[in-house]
Amino acid sequence: NANKKAGALVDGNRLAARAFAKTGIEHMFGVVGIPVTSLASSCVTEGIRFIAFHNEQSAGYAAGAAGYLTGKPGLLLTVSGPGCVHGLAGLSNAMINTWPFILVSGSSVQADVGRGDFQELDQLEIVKPFSKYSGKAHKISEIPGVVSKAVASAVSGRPGGTYIDIPSDVLHETVTEEEAKQLLDGIQPYVPVWAVRAAPKELLAGDKEISETVSLLRNAKKPLIVFGKGAAYSRAEKSLKQLVESTGIPFLATPMGKGLLPDSHPLSAAAARSLALAESDVALVVGARLNWLLHFGEPPKWSESVKFILADISEEEIKLRKPAVGLVGDANLILQQLLKEYKDEPFHLGEKHPWVTQIRAKAQANIQRMAVSLNKDVVPFNFLTPMRIVRDAILAVGSPAPILVSEGANTMDVGRSVLEQTEPRTRLDAGTWGTMGVGLGYAIAAAVVNPERLVVAVEGDSGFGFSGLEVETLVRYNLPVTVIIFNNNGVYGGDRRTPEEISGPHKDDPAPTSFVPEARYDLVMEAFGGKGYIVRTPKKLESALKESFSARKPAVINIIVDPFAGSESGRMGHRN
Ligand code: ADP
Repeated sequence: NANKKAGALVDGNRLAARAFAKTGIEHMFGVVGIPVTSLASSCVTEGIRFIAFHNEQSAGYAAGAAGYLTGKPGLLLTVSGPGCVHGLAGLSNAMINTWPFILVSGSSVQADVGRGDFQELDQLEIVKPFSKYSGKAHKISEIPGVVSKAVASAVSGRPGGTYIDIPSDVLHETVTEEEAKQLLDGIQPYVPVWAVRAAPKELLAGDKEISETVSLLRNAKKPLIVFGKGAAYSRAEKSLKQLVESTGIPFLATPMGKGLLPDSHPLSAAAARSLALAESDVALVVGARLNWLLHFGEPPKWSESVKFILADISEEEIKLRKPAVGLVGDANLILQQLLKEYKDEPFHLGEKHPWVTQIRAKAQANIQRMAVSLNKDVVPFNFLTPMRIVRDAILAVGSPAPILVSEGANTMDVGRSVLEQTEPRTRLDAGTWGTMGVGLGYAIAAAVVNPERLVVAVEGDSGFGFSGLEVETLVRYNLPVTVIIFNNNGVYGGDRRTPEEISGPHKDDPAPTSFVPEARYDLVMEAFGGKGYIVRTPKKLESALKESFSARKPAVINIIVDPFAGSESGRMGHRN
């Protein structure tokens, strides 16, 4: 009888797992250890897939990407103290990228706080700058409430990071099954806005602003539509396509906005970006901040007199930028409002419109100029030749298009202009914060949440090295990820100093930018049973890509690149 009674008890681990499962969260990323090991296994029991990593930093990047790709909060589980500190990497990265995210961390026994307990740390205090909400469950009955609040906060308004603290003693507390049911009663499954039928009013822009926007666009001489990862997050692809194609207005995507409309679209101004920014007189910016990536919306990149119309879920963002018109709401819903307004008095620029022809002429000239260097087979490899081969192999996969993960200074810069996106949310890169080391985590998350897609990570050797051992995680879960490493012996190109540039007592040390030349990253993958390739020629690269893309198994392609081919800091040399 006593056993029967004990079996009916639910501990903190199980209650938390049930709370997460009830919100509809399907994945958790993390590293187990004291005191959260049972929490991870309880989540698995409740149907949540737990992806176990080697380090919390990488797991945190994975959870962030999962949040962005699924629209549900990405969950990161960490141990107390140092685990939580490592988790800050993922929390802050998600916060800056405005991705829904929950860091769940165990913490030390409450009764021992202040006495130097195992992994003791005031975790609520350290997460503050990076979280919209943080809550601690001081006793087991508080767990469901804290979980609900964290989920609601992570996804509401501008998405972002949140934090849940569950002390070790609370994880071990118990309640009866009856009590557990009651405590979990209030938790509702979370439904992203794009899955809700009736549009909530607070996510719609004002009618006056909608009509001002359409009238500004109608009367503009050089209108431009710019969109970013906020539009991708809101699933705005259909409405965007409709708006662009019915108005005939040229468009520009930010790096992660790429793919909402295909890069090859006739109205894409990507190859005439500088011209489009410099001359546009009215720019509708949807789900993208006028931050460094868009040159703050200021001269010399933008014209002094450009009128901005900003569509963003965050009123704070609109207030900060002071646009001519601010549209506060969900990107997709706002675009639908604009389309409705537009239909009353439609207009279409048409192929012969001087602005459209000006952009097209410039884009074609730039593409042709680029093609001259892009279509050459340069060996030893520069960045362009292998990038072109990678582009063609990715395009040959067709639909569903692979998810591209991209990082590294030169590798990401060159990749951004050469690699083409054809479908929405198929590009993950260093993002708003320029975070390096995200590649393996992003690739793992992309493969886990989108099992139908191939994942291709195109990385510099430095970016790969941050969490290179996570290739073991790829093999363990048998994920269809090909990691392509542009190996140029280090950051920017390894040790490129001349003897005259080196002096001092440590002159015989390798350069701060260098790694072991021609390191065999392919063998790291092979050590775990995955497939490794080392390639130095176009033919070898083509066949490695073909084989690994069709195998859909974990692979590393180690491309040896001329260390003198890259430039310092990629295209941001002026900042270094
Ligand atoms: P990018 O890096 O593509 O330029 P940013 O991260 O700078 O994009 O901007 C994304 C913007 O999208 C943020 O300001 C964020 O508030 C906004 N956003 C997030 N979700 C939505 C949504 N559902 N609708 C509209 N805007 C959104």
